[in-house]
Amino acid sequence: MHTNNQSPQVRCVVNTCKYYATGDYCSAKAINIEPRNASTTEMTDCATFERK
Ligand code: SF4
Repeated sequence: MHTNNQSPQVRCVVNTCKYYATGDYCSAKAINIEPRNASTTEMTDCATFERK
């Protein structure tokens, strides 16, 4: 898996996710976004989401 020292600084408002943190950001070290070949914003999904 690719890693680097940068903070991803992901803003996320999905407050039902266990990685959601107050202030609307993601506390996961890395996230996976799917699917390949998406053609609209709505088609993209955070695959790292886990119900809180
Ligand atoms: S894992 Fe995905 S859905 Fe969950 S807080 Fe992070 S970006 Fe949002």
